[in-house]
Amino acid sequence: MNLVIFGPPGAGKGTQSSFITKKFNLYQLSTGELLREEIKNKTKLGKKISSIINSGDLVSDEIVSELIEKFISKKEFQNRIIFDGYPRNLSQAKNLDILLKNSNQKIDMVLKLSVSLETIKQRISERKTLENRTDDDEKTAIKRYETYEKNSKLVIDFYERLGLLKVVNGERSIAEISSEISALIEVI
Ligand code: AMP
Repeated sequence: MNLVIFGPPGAGKGTQSSFITKKFNLYQLSTGELLREEIKNKTKLGKKISSIINSGDLVSDEIVSELIEKFISKKEFQNRIIFDGYPRNLSQAKNLDILLKNSNQKIDMVLKLSVSLETIKQRISERKTLENRTDDDEKTAIKRYETYEKNSKLVIDFYERLGLLKVVNGERSIAEISSEISALIEVI
């Protein structure tokens, strides 16, 4: 099974993905993490993308597509990926479909975490202290939320039409959200 976890920055995608990964023996593919690794390792790509990430904009579709393609094509990850942070716009959603089809795979469910901007601001300021991410100051966080708002509707409509979308209330406790997500995955 392949899953997508979708939602605004600070919605808890990373936290819920690591829970799902352990419980269902999946592999968490976080495009944000992969990009941060590139920056940390000061690669050519890392140098190119650091200012984009720190401004709260999206990195180009081509760059992220190349990163995820490496995983999708690998045998050990076949049908056991949870996509965390990809797709982020309609063209990425369509691209993901094509990449998966090329290796006889598909998305089985899209979990959308719904969270208000107020909650996000609060969570991101807490995360800033814990993870020390350079894109977690309030101004950039709001920009990232706006970027999400701008692109998310078309992605949500796309998956809704395919009958894959499940909306989860992300305002509750981590344990409550995990338990609802578990129940949804168990019936796939
Ligand atoms: P995240 O860790 O998912 O919050 O991502 C952090 C940042 O990485 C985002 O604000 C974007 O700048 C970049 N990023 C992550 N995933 C993508 C993606 N699928 N497409 C474009 N940019 C992305």
